[in-house]
Amino acid sequence: MAAHPDFRRYLVNIDSASTQQFFTDCLIIGAGIAGLRAAIELVPSIVEGAANRRNIIVVCKDTLQNSNTWKAQGGIASVLDKVDTFQSHIADTLNTGCGICDESVVDLVVQQGPQLIEQLLCWGVEFDMVDGRVSTTLEGGHSYPRIAHAHGDETGRIIADALIKKVRSNPNIKILENFYTIDLLTEDSRCIGVIGLNKQTGLHIIWATNTILATGGAGQFYRETTNPEVATGDGLAMAYRAGAVLQDLEFVQFHPTTLYVAGATRALITETLRGEGAVLLDSKGYRFMKDYHEAAELAPRDVVSRAILAQMLKTESTHVYLDVRHLDKTYLAKRFPLISELCESFDIDVSRDLIPVRPSAHYMVGGVKTDISARTSIENLYACGEVASTGLHGANRLGSNSLLEGLVFGKIAGRAICEYKKKSRSHIKHPPIKYRIAHSDRTLLDTADVRNSLQSLMWRNVGITRTAHLLGDAQERIKFWQRYVMDKVFDSPVGWECQNMLTVCMLIAQSAGEREESRGVHFRTDFPQTDDHRFKKHIEIKR
Ligand SMILES: Cc1cc2nc3c(=O)[nH]c(=O)nc-3n(C[C@H](O)[C@H](O)[C@H](O)COP(=O)(O)OP(=O)(O)OC[C@H]3O[C@@H](n4cnc5c(N)ncnc54)[C@H](O)[C@@H]3O)c2cc1C
Repeated sequence: MAAHPDFRRYLVNIDSASTQQFFTDCLIIGAGIAGLRAAIELVPSIVEGAANRRNIIVVCKDTLQNSNTWKAQGGIASVLDKVDTFQSHIADTLNTGCGICDESVVDLVVQQGPQLIEQLLCWGVEFDMVDGRVSTTLEGGHSYPRIAHAHGDETGRIIADALIKKVRSNPNIKILENFYTIDLLTEDSRCIGVIGLNKQTGLHIIWATNTILATGGAGQFYRETTNPEVATGDGLAMAYRAGAVLQDLEFVQFHPTTLYVAGATRALITETLRGEGAVLLDSKGYRFMKDYHEAAELAPRDVVSRAILAQMLKTESTHVYLDVRHLDKTYLAKRFPLISELCESFDIDVSRDLIPVRPSAHYMVGGVKTDISARTSIENLYACGEVASTGLHGANRLGSNSLLEGLVFGKIAGRAICEYKKKSRSHIKHPPIKYRIAHSDRTLLDTADVRNSLQSLMWRNVGITRTAHLLGDAQERIKFWQRYVMDKVFDSPVGWECQNMLTVCMLIAQSAGEREESRGVHFRTDFPQTDDHRFKKHIEIKR
């Protein structure tokens, strides 16, 4: 395990005696696919035990609609066709993961897919259908069309909507929007709840017998990202402070094709579009992907991202283009309504114009280490979804496998807690917590400026390609900012997010420096080969 500088245990002063409090059997931090699915799984056992009590609390830092899940476009991967096989989906996942997937986890997730998608259909998710069965499409890295989608490219929103309805309809689940979780509370290496800020009512402690971390991704670490503003890696940082083991943080996936319009957010142009025939052209109109990989536009994401970057350098251009002019415009508008609308909003007529694209940070492959039951290294703390590292993705995530992972591991986390409740009648004791941070006289930096500079640094130095020199430089700069930011006590999410980002970005740069090889989405130009002898393993980090 790598050694890392210890910062203080909590970000804020705590005095439990004078803080507003809630008590719950289970607290779920995060309301994306993973957190919502976990809540639904927990309900039957809670109802058996004590009807009419709100025993489950789900919190999210903004509205329920602000999550990576809500933005997911392409779809959810699963074996839904008689001609497709589990073996094929497993092989594609292992192949993309480059030798470090946990095979038992891959097996489990792939096999549970069809029945959980069937369940979503029963819960009202309107998957697109053909001849009475779920229609599936092809995506890069998959050897069979197995991507289920809903309302074209609105899959995430449609799934989240159905899960939210189901969660809302249950009186045992209380949802708190605009609740920013600051830290996990621990006692004797057990998680006993959280401290957080409710936008309306101030600081709260939520004491919880069990806690599920489902805080999603961390795309905001990078200047160019597909992720919403809320994806600042808070869950990773708070788990690290609490002493959990994190792993595989060097593996950050970049999506090859996000719309490049200067000044606009980097909206994703799903790779399903390439699955359906879109091709990539450079600024000179040359179809370059065949020069980089035999599968051309359908090569794995990391290959396409690096190829685009190399071609941008070669042609001294800020972007490349997606060409869909040969595809039927009416079909595109029906199959990809969000993308069609998005392009139209920038006066791009997809039947006549090329779509300018470039890569952006997209998915955090590493995360809080869990076992096959979603348990972290901290007792009574579970993790699922993008914040977790279950071993499914290895060194790279196969497209459309993350919604699937959130669904499967959300269920598993909920189930694990039901089992725990059956075995253990004991309730967590909540000892009084008093924690005071000494005042620091050191200069206060503008956290918004630090955040912007950090995002640019991560993009330049810890991005799609890396070298020892760039990674070392990144660590020096982050260390400098940490000296002036980590010693302060903030009273709003802007400051806490900045502290969380500085903490985890440092860990990413350190892990990336330690892995002196190239594997999956981690590409070192100074170590371009895969080195199974030294690195066919996970890099774990613990405070
Ligand atoms: C543009 C885009 C397109 C994508 N397309 C696909 C796709 O087609 N197929 C696929 O499989 N995957 C796709 N992905 C990835 C996938 O959407 C995510 O990996 C997945 O939805 C993550 O789900 P989650 O439940 O783990 O987290 P999220 O859906 O991100 O939810 C995280 C939750 O945690 C809450 N939270 C975070 N921090 C705190 C805090 N401090 N306090 C309280 N709450 C907090 C947030 O408010 C939010 O409710 C896409 C991602 C993006 C960004």
